[in-house]
Amino acid sequence: MVQSSILGFPRMGVNRDLKKATEAYWAGKISQADLLAEAKRLRLEHWNIQKKAGVDVIPSNDFALYDQVLHQIQDFGAAPPKYTSHGLNPVDEYFAMGRGHQKNGIDVPSLEMVKWFDSNYHYVKPTLQDNQEFKLTANPKAVSDFEEAKAAGIITRPVLIGPVSFLHLGKADRDQTVQPIDLLEKLIPVYVELLTKLKAAGAETVQIDEPTLVYDLPAKTKAAFKPAYEKFAALGDKIPKIVFATYFGDIVHNIEVLPKDVYAVHVDLVRNPEQLDTVISALGSKTVLSAGVVDGRNIWKTNLKRAIETVETAIQNLGKDRVIVATSSSLLHTPHTLASEKKLDPEIADWFSFACEKAVEVSVIAKAVTEGPASVREQLEANAKSIQSRATSKRTNDPAVKTRQSKITPDMYNRRSEFPTRIAEQQRTLGLPLFPTTTIGSFPQTKEIRIQRNKFTKGEITAGEYEKFIEKEIQDVVKIQEELDLDVYVHGEPERNDMVQYFGERLDGYAFTTHAWVQSYGSRCVRPPIVVGDISRPAPMTVKESKYAVSISKKPMKGMLTGPITCLRWSFPRDDVHQSVQAEQLALALRDEVVDLEAAGVYVIQVDEPALREGLPLRAGKEREAYLKWAVESFRLSVSGVKDSTQIHSHFCYSEFQDFFHAIAALDADVLSIENSKSDAKLLKVFVDEVYPRHIGPGVYDIHSPRVPSEQEIKDRIDEMLVYLKPEQLWINPDCGLKTRQWAETKAALINMVNAAKFYRQKY
Ligand code: GLN
Ligand code: ZN
Repeated sequence: MVQSSILGFPRMGVNRDLKKATEAYWAGKISQADLLAEAKRLRLEHWNIQKKAGVDVIPSNDFALYDQVLHQIQDFGAAPPKYTSHGLNPVDEYFAMGRGHQKNGIDVPSLEMVKWFDSNYHYVKPTLQDNQEFKLTANPKAVSDFEEAKAAGIITRPVLIGPVSFLHLGKADRDQTVQPIDLLEKLIPVYVELLTKLKAAGAETVQIDEPTLVYDLPAKTKAAFKPAYEKFAALGDKIPKIVFATYFGDIVHNIEVLPKDVYAVHVDLVRNPEQLDTVISALGSKTVLSAGVVDGRNIWKTNLKRAIETVETAIQNLGKDRVIVATSSSLLHTPHTLASEKKLDPEIADWFSFACEKAVEVSVIAKAVTEGPASVREQLEANAKSIQSRATSKRTNDPAVKTRQSKITPDMYNRRSEFPTRIAEQQRTLGLPLFPTTTIGSFPQTKEIRIQRNKFTKGEITAGEYEKFIEKEIQDVVKIQEELDLDVYVHGEPERNDMVQYFGERLDGYAFTTHAWVQSYGSRCVRPPIVVGDISRPAPMTVKESKYAVSISKKPMKGMLTGPITCLRWSFPRDDVHQSVQAEQLALALRDEVVDLEAAGVYVIQVDEPALREGLPLRAGKEREAYLKWAVESFRLSVSGVKDSTQIHSHFCYSEFQDFFHAIAALDADVLSIENSKSDAKLLKVFVDEVYPRHIGPGVYDIHSPRVPSEQEIKDRIDEMLVYLKPEQLWINPDCGLKTRQWAETKAALINMVNAAKFYRQKY
């Protein structure tokens, strides 16, 4: 019999219940016992959903209160000393590492959190010491979760992050020099102890995630797999049988380190179906293949016919007993259930499959290959109909968009003149001083703004009333910027709920959900819009607000758009059309917007592309270069329709450009603002080394905290920047995201920032 399995399930619950519970706990509104009870209820509910769907192998320990890597950090005794010395109870110590702790005289910042591979989920980085020791906690979560499920009558497969990935994804703590992978020998005994305990508790199999195998790995990391997995193999049936799991890429380039002596190997056949043959021939003689054929990263219904064919190919090579049908990765990256979407057009809803629905898909595929397609004929027929409907729908195919794409000419990617000519024009028409000051777009989104937007969404106020309210907000922020004496204004983005959703809602080709939340980090969830078809702009999206803002401003007003790559990356993209095609469609829509803004008198236009870097393919080389090529082209296509005198800005929420500086330069934006206040100013050196002539505004202060930086601090920061950047190149702005701040601190900080800029204007 071919089993069905899931690598991990979303944790939030049908109504973001976990978010509500953890936030209530942090706010002191519920007790720790209440929180843990709610977490237990959710785990049980999720196991039962999978069981009812007919899934054979259900995971446990995929659940986390904040992040799964963080649980492992704590259970392995790898919490850095600054968290363990306060006598916090384990749950609070855990949250202190995840989100910082500032209470009762304790003040510790959070551990670093970074994106989980190329997904929008963030994990907490194992942060290790030179003299790091590991020690398994008395009551490891992997064991208690397993026992909890067992008590409910479900024998699960516990999930662990594997030793090589745990170390490779970690880093040395500040002031420490240890290379995490060198700690392998010390770490292995903890795994051995944990695996032994799991076996004793009754676990037959365990899923050990080693997704780092999809990266280009340093030799040392590569070499670490062999000793680790040989050690486990030597333990025979003292530990559960190991499913060695990889996902988000292919493992062909690392195939020689794939352990032969494990029970099963899991690979992602959605992202890289072509790796199937190579992986099959590299398996140990008895090793089972867990075939990831149901997409854990997107929301499209699985093409069951195609998935079954893939699984059948594996079966022909290995036999039925050596194949498992699985999700490509954890379903963590998909929303909970389609059943919550009451407002979706039924035609479109029929194309989607969220976590609960994907659970059914794996079990249908497994049944089809075990008992024959006739056993699930009805499901297969319905699925074929949905797939056909999507492939032929008018809503996905827009000939006008395709015609326009076919008519793109090379000159559409280029501004009319080179930067020196453009900047001279811009300086003449905009009349900006040296060290011009600006902000990155949003101003505080007050409670009042959210109330009015809500009323408008619910139909409690008219479009006209809402428009008046927004105009009043714009008047207020213009007045404040006048008082602050900033040089380039923004309208403050009061009308925008989110920088991607706002545009998606105004573009044809997008669909929106009401409950399709996906965990981004901790309790934070995002609700990505879905690209369902060819994208076009039926009408201007931001011109009205920007035009109004220009009409009441005495100084240049910056138009504000989200770039094509960011719109695409922060949505669920189509899987039937290459992403470069979707980016090009977005670029054409944005190009019209940029040209319309210019015609409306907006002569400074910022196109934000913070997601450019996270879209980088995981491995260097051909694929990465291809991505950068089409990403840069889409940006250029979106902004190149304007005159030389119109100044194009772009913005990035980071300043680590070393790996792909050529692409940043190729964007050819007149001004680049980057988040830099918390990074080392040395990162700016790359602009000097690469002889970058254009203007740059590295954030001079951190806006993620309510703290007001002094004028002196800002000057110190500017001094550091001037080591690398020329005075005539430097803009003065904060980091991005003022929308999350309060007005009081925003004004106080900007007063200091403007004063600092004026000081340098005097000096130079
Ligand atoms: N213009 C956006 C803002 O200031 C940029 C947000 C971002 O960089 N993520 O809110
Ligand atoms: Zn940013």
